[in-house]
Amino acid sequence: MNKKKLPKYPLIWQKDDFYIKIYCSIPNIATGIIITTDKAKFIVDPGDGILRDLNKDYKKDEILEVSDIFISHGHHDHLGGLWSLLTYLCVMKRTKPLNIYYPAGSPEIESIYNAFKSVYEHEMEYNINLKSISDSKTFTKKGIKIKPFKVNHREPNDDGESVPVPSLGFKFFYNGKSICYGGDTAYSENLVKMAKDSDLAIIEAGALTEEEAELHMTIDQASEIGETADEYFLVHVPDGI
Ligand SMILES: [Zn+2]
Repeated sequence: MNKKKLPKYPLIWQKDDFYIKIYCSIPNIATGIIITTDKAKFIVDPGDGILRDLNKDYKKDEILEVSDIFISHGHHDHLGGLWSLLTYLCVMKRTKPLNIYYPAGSPEIESIYNAFKSVYEHEMEYNINLKSISDSKTFTKKGIKIKPFKVNHREPNDDGESVPVPSLGFKFFYNGKSICYGGDTAYSENLVKMAKDSDLAIIEAGALTEEEAELHMTIDQASEIGETADEYFLVHVPDGI
Protein backbone atom coordinates (compact mmCIF):
# COMPACT_ATOMS: atom_id res chain seq x y z
CA MET A 1 0.00 0.00 0.00
CA ASN A 2 1.40 3.30 -1.12
CA LYS A 3 1.11 5.88 1.68
CA LYS A 4 0.78 8.61 -0.93
CA LYS A 5 -2.64 7.26 -1.81
CA LEU A 6 -4.05 8.07 1.62
CA PRO A 7 -6.50 10.95 1.37
CA LYS A 8 -5.44 14.29 2.76
CA TYR A 9 -8.54 16.37 3.39
CA PRO A 10 -10.00 18.49 2.06
CA LEU A 11 -9.99 16.97 -1.41
CA ILE A 12 -10.96 19.37 -4.15
CA TRP A 13 -11.67 18.85 -7.85
CA GLN A 14 -12.89 21.41 -10.34
CA LYS A 15 -13.64 21.65 -14.07
CA ASP A 16 -14.82 25.14 -14.99
CA ASP A 17 -17.67 25.88 -12.58
CA PHE A 18 -18.26 22.21 -11.68
CA TYR A 19 -16.67 21.99 -8.25
CA ILE A 20 -16.54 19.43 -5.48
CA LYS A 21 -14.93 19.65 -2.08
CA ILE A 22 -14.73 16.64 0.19
CA TYR A 23 -14.22 18.13 3.62
CA CYS A 24 -13.60 14.68 5.01
CA SER A 25 -14.64 11.04 4.77
CA ILE A 26 -13.37 9.17 7.80
CA PRO A 27 -14.94 5.85 8.79
CA ASN A 28 -16.99 6.01 12.00
CA ILE A 29 -16.32 9.77 12.27
CA ALA A 30 -17.78 11.82 9.44
CA THR A 31 -18.19 12.44 5.73
CA GLY A 32 -19.06 15.86 4.33
CA ILE A 33 -19.12 16.91 0.68
CA ILE A 34 -20.30 19.96 -1.25
CA ILE A 35 -20.87 20.07 -5.01
CA THR A 36 -21.43 23.42 -6.70
CA THR A 37 -21.81 25.06 -10.10
CA ASP A 38 -22.58 28.70 -10.81
CA LYS A 39 -26.23 27.83 -10.27
CA ALA A 40 -26.26 24.92 -7.83
CA LYS A 41 -25.22 24.09 -4.30
CA PHE A 42 -25.68 20.48 -3.18
CA ILE A 43 -24.57 18.71 -0.04
CA VAL A 44 -23.67 15.05 -0.27
CA ASP A 45 -23.58 13.13 3.01
CA PRO A 46 -24.03 15.78 5.72
CA GLY A 47 -21.87 14.10 8.35
CA ASP A 48 -20.92 15.62 11.67
CA GLY A 49 -19.17 18.97 11.24
CA ILE A 50 -20.73 19.82 7.88
CA LEU A 51 -22.16 23.11 9.14
CA ARG A 52 -18.84 24.11 10.72
CA ASP A 53 -17.06 23.26 7.45
CA LEU A 54 -19.57 25.16 5.30
CA ASN A 55 -19.25 28.14 7.62
CA LYS A 56 -15.51 28.30 6.89
CA ASP A 57 -16.13 28.65 3.14
CA TYR A 58 -19.50 30.31 2.76
CA LYS A 59 -21.47 33.23 4.11
CA LYS A 60 -24.87 32.72 5.67
CA ASP A 61 -26.74 33.65 2.48
CA GLU A 62 -24.67 31.17 0.50
CA ILE A 63 -25.39 28.35 2.94
CA LEU A 64 -29.06 29.23 2.61
CA GLU A 65 -28.74 28.56 -1.13
CA VAL A 66 -28.20 24.83 -0.60
CA SER A 67 -31.16 23.33 -2.42
CA ASP A 68 -30.63 19.58 -2.35
CA ILE A 69 -29.05 17.10 0.04
CA PHE A 70 -28.06 13.62 -1.09
CA ILE A 71 -27.55 10.96 1.56
CA SER A 72 -25.89 7.70 0.58
CA HIS A 73 -27.13 5.72 3.60
CA GLY A 74 -28.21 6.07 7.21
CA HIS A 75 -24.97 5.40 9.07
CA HIS A 76 -24.08 8.16 11.51
CA ASP A 77 -20.79 9.02 9.80
CA HIS A 78 -22.81 10.07 6.72
CA LEU A 79 -25.62 12.09 8.27
CA GLY A 80 -24.55 13.11 11.78
CA GLY A 81 -24.61 16.80 10.85
CA LEU A 82 -28.10 16.80 9.36
CA TRP A 83 -29.87 17.99 12.52
CA SER A 84 -27.66 21.04 12.98
CA LEU A 85 -27.80 21.94 9.28
CA LEU A 86 -31.61 21.76 9.24
CA THR A 87 -31.78 23.79 12.45
CA TYR A 88 -29.41 26.44 11.10
CA LEU A 89 -31.60 26.85 8.01
CA CYS A 90 -34.63 27.21 10.28
CA VAL A 91 -33.02 29.75 12.63
CA MET A 92 -31.67 31.74 9.65
CA LYS A 93 -35.21 31.94 8.27
CA ARG A 94 -34.81 29.91 5.13
CA THR A 95 -37.98 30.06 3.06
CA LYS A 96 -37.15 27.98 -0.05
CA PRO A 97 -37.98 24.28 0.09
CA LEU A 98 -35.14 21.83 0.70
CA ASN A 99 -34.97 18.41 -0.96
CA ILE A 100 -33.40 15.45 0.81
CA TYR A 101 -32.73 12.33 -1.27
CA TYR A 102 -31.97 9.08 0.49
CA PRO A 103 -32.27 5.34 -0.05
CA ALA A 104 -35.81 4.04 0.55
CA GLY A 105 -36.05 2.22 3.84
CA SER A 106 -33.41 4.17 5.81
CA PRO A 107 -34.94 4.41 9.30
CA GLU A 108 -32.30 6.88 10.54
CA ILE A 109 -33.14 9.58 8.00
CA GLU A 110 -36.88 9.34 8.48
CA SER A 111 -36.46 9.37 12.28
CA ILE A 112 -34.29 12.49 12.20
CA TYR A 113 -36.80 14.19 9.90
CA ASN A 114 -39.77 13.27 12.09
CA ALA A 115 -38.03 14.36 15.30
CA PHE A 116 -36.87 17.59 13.69
CA LYS A 117 -40.36 18.40 12.46
CA SER A 118 -41.90 17.74 15.84
CA VAL A 119 -39.48 20.17 17.52
CA TYR A 120 -39.26 22.95 14.92
CA GLU A 121 -42.38 22.79 12.78
CA HIS A 122 -44.00 25.72 14.61
CA GLU A 123 -41.18 28.06 13.59
CA MET A 124 -40.08 26.57 10.26
CA GLU A 125 -40.55 28.81 7.27
CA TYR A 126 -39.30 26.24 4.78
CA ASN A 127 -40.54 22.86 3.65
CA ILE A 128 -38.43 19.76 3.65
CA ASN A 129 -39.22 17.40 0.80
CA LEU A 130 -38.07 13.95 1.79
CA LYS A 131 -37.48 11.98 -1.37
CA SER A 132 -36.81 8.31 -0.85
CA ILE A 133 -35.14 6.64 -3.80
CA SER A 134 -35.90 3.06 -4.72
CA ASP A 135 -34.79 2.96 -8.36
CA SER A 136 -32.04 4.27 -10.59
CA LYS A 137 -34.10 6.83 -12.45
CA THR A 138 -32.13 9.88 -13.53
CA PHE A 139 -33.42 13.32 -12.59
CA THR A 140 -32.20 16.87 -13.03
CA LYS A 141 -31.81 19.57 -10.40
CA LYS A 142 -30.37 23.04 -10.99
CA GLY A 143 -28.89 21.95 -14.31
CA ILE A 144 -27.13 18.90 -12.85
CA LYS A 145 -28.26 15.45 -13.93
CA ILE A 146 -28.24 12.95 -11.07
CA LYS A 147 -28.23 9.20 -11.43
CA PRO A 148 -28.62 7.25 -8.18
CA PHE A 149 -27.49 3.63 -8.13
CA LYS A 150 -27.68 0.87 -5.58
CA VAL A 151 -24.48 -0.25 -3.91
CA ASN A 152 -23.64 -3.09 -1.60
CA HIS A 153 -23.27 -2.08 2.04
CA ARG A 154 -24.04 -4.08 5.18
CA GLU A 155 -24.19 -3.88 8.96
CA PRO A 156 -24.51 -6.43 11.76
CA ASN A 157 -28.02 -7.00 13.12
CA ASP A 158 -28.86 -7.72 16.80
CA ASP A 159 -27.84 -11.35 16.33
CA GLY A 160 -24.52 -10.34 14.88
CA GLU A 161 -25.52 -11.42 11.38
CA SER A 162 -24.51 -9.20 8.52
CA VAL A 163 -27.57 -7.70 6.78
CA PRO A 164 -27.86 -5.30 3.83
CA VAL A 165 -28.26 -1.56 4.51
CA PRO A 166 -30.22 0.54 1.99
CA SER A 167 -27.32 2.32 0.28
CA LEU A 168 -26.85 4.44 -2.80
CA GLY A 169 -24.11 5.94 -4.85
CA PHE A 170 -24.79 9.02 -6.97
CA LYS A 171 -23.38 10.08 -10.31
CA PHE A 172 -23.59 13.79 -11.12
CA PHE A 173 -23.41 14.99 -14.76
CA TYR A 174 -22.86 18.61 -15.67
CA ASN A 175 -21.51 20.42 -18.70
CA GLY A 176 -20.10 17.26 -20.28
CA LYS A 177 -18.33 16.16 -17.08
CA SER A 178 -19.29 13.61 -14.46
CA ILE A 179 -18.53 12.88 -10.84
CA CYS A 180 -19.28 9.42 -9.46
CA TYR A 181 -19.62 9.05 -5.69
CA GLY A 182 -19.96 5.47 -4.53
CA GLY A 183 -20.91 6.06 -0.88
CA ASP A 184 -20.04 3.11 1.37
CA THR A 185 -19.95 -0.22 -0.37
CA ALA A 186 -18.29 -3.55 -0.69
CA TYR A 187 -17.31 -4.49 -4.23
CA SER A 188 -20.29 -3.53 -6.38
CA GLU A 189 -20.86 -4.18 -10.09
CA ASN A 190 -23.07 -1.09 -10.22
CA LEU A 191 -20.23 1.03 -8.94
CA VAL A 192 -17.83 -0.56 -11.41
CA LYS A 193 -20.19 0.46 -14.24
CA MET A 194 -20.86 3.95 -12.96
CA ALA A 195 -17.26 4.82 -12.09
CA LYS A 196 -15.97 3.80 -15.52
CA ASP A 197 -15.13 6.81 -17.68
CA SER A 198 -16.26 9.29 -15.02
CA ASP A 199 -14.19 12.44 -14.96
CA LEU A 200 -13.89 11.96 -11.22
CA ALA A 201 -14.65 8.85 -9.19
CA ILE A 202 -14.80 8.97 -5.40
CA ILE A 203 -14.30 5.47 -4.14
CA GLU A 204 -14.35 4.24 -0.59
CA ALA A 205 -11.54 2.02 0.63
CA GLY A 206 -12.80 1.24 4.10
CA ALA A 207 -11.59 -2.34 4.49
CA LEU A 208 -8.25 -2.81 6.18
CA THR A 209 -8.14 -6.52 5.39
CA GLU A 210 -9.68 -8.97 2.94
CA GLU A 211 -11.88 -10.23 5.81
CA GLU A 212 -13.51 -6.81 6.08
CA ALA A 213 -14.27 -6.73 2.37
CA GLU A 214 -17.84 -7.85 2.99
CA LEU A 215 -18.66 -4.34 4.28
CA HIS A 216 -16.14 -2.14 2.52
CA MET A 217 -13.55 -2.30 -0.24
CA THR A 218 -9.86 -2.86 0.16
CA ILE A 219 -7.44 -0.29 -1.21
CA ASP A 220 -6.66 -2.66 -4.08
CA GLN A 221 -10.32 -3.15 -5.03
CA ALA A 222 -11.06 0.57 -4.75
CA SER A 223 -7.96 1.58 -6.74
CA GLU A 224 -8.81 -0.85 -9.51
CA ILE A 225 -12.24 0.75 -9.90
CA GLY A 226 -10.81 4.25 -9.57
CA GLU A 227 -8.31 3.58 -12.36
CA THR A 228 -11.18 3.20 -14.84
CA ALA A 229 -12.14 6.84 -14.30
CA ASP A 230 -10.23 9.82 -15.60
CA GLU A 231 -9.26 10.81 -12.04
CA TYR A 232 -10.16 9.36 -8.68
CA PHE A 233 -10.01 9.92 -4.96
CA LEU A 234 -9.90 7.10 -2.46
CA VAL A 235 -11.88 8.07 0.62
CA HIS A 236 -13.16 6.53 3.86
CA VAL A 237 -9.77 4.99 4.43
CA PRO A 238 -9.34 3.90 8.05
CA ASP A 239 -6.48 4.99 10.24
CA GLY A 240 -3.93 2.31 10.80
CA ILE A 241 -2.88 1.70 7.22
ZN1 LIG B 1 -21.66 2.95 6.30
